[in-house]
Amino acid sequence: MNKCIKCKTPNPEQWFYCKTCGEKTAMNNYTSNLWMRGDLSSRTDVEFSSMDMNSHVDQLVSERETKGRKFWQDVSSKATN
Ligand SMILES: [Zn+2]
Repeated sequence: MNKCIKCKTPNPEQWFYCKTCGEKTAMNNYTSNLWMRGDLSSRTDVEFSSMDMNSHVDQLVSERETKGRKFWQDVSSKATN
């Protein structure tokens, strides 16, 4: 749980300034690390979602190709029968 670094009051709502002693609840390094981690994780999310999109499109295309091939096989088999 987040705590004020000065008076150790629990800070579950992650206020930047402590409501009890009025001091910053975290060191600057800590907040910038948090921000960088958040930036990195959001970027990873974007990469993941675009990867999902690509594989989804690939799947759709291959499904359509399979269906198309089957359709033409059916047509040619009917034509020969
Ligand atoms: Zn405090």
